[in-house]
Amino acid sequence: MRCVECGNESLHPVAVDQGFVSECALCGHVDGPGELVERVLDVREARERGFDPLVYPLVKVLAELPGIRVTAAMAGDPEHGFSPAVQFEIADRRFDSLVKLLVSLTMINREARGRWVVEAELQRDLCFVLKPRLSPRFDDEWKARIPAFQEDLALLARRMRQNTSLSWWNKGS
Ligand SMILES: [Zn+2]
Repeated sequence: MRCVECGNESLHPVAVDQGFVSECALCGHVDGPGELVERVLDVREARERGFDPLVYPLVKVLAELPGIRVTAAMAGDPEHGFSPAVQFEIADRRFDSLVKLLVSLTMINREARGRWVVEAELQRDLCFVLKPRLSPRFDDEWKARIPAFQEDLALLARRMRQNTSLSWWNKGS
């Protein structure tokens, strides 16, 4: 097989989800089923921008909301007891996206494994953090739940993406 982009013959298989794509060792062109290719390019884009691929789809959908600027994102780390979180700022007091995000979250929380909330923090400026609500006691039980919160990341990204295309979301903006 040859790379359709550069003609190079050293293509190597890359496992994605349940399937495979082929990646050109020379130019990096990715070939295979569309959905898988998209996934591979997403992972690559995430790494290039310094995000963990696990949290990147959620970062992307949030960053597209008017007035929201994502400042940091963590995918979480069960071993060290860090839960996933996305930190963002609101530009020019455009809180309409935040309100819609909160409405969206109340719906998503019915499906999610954690209870996701947005906390406001006063740092240099007013900043917000989207994360699963912390238990009052930080213990091993909480640590054990972190993988479930990490699974929620994909659900949140998918549902947010769907919600932003619905009429209630786009009304009056
Ligand atoms: Zn190539």
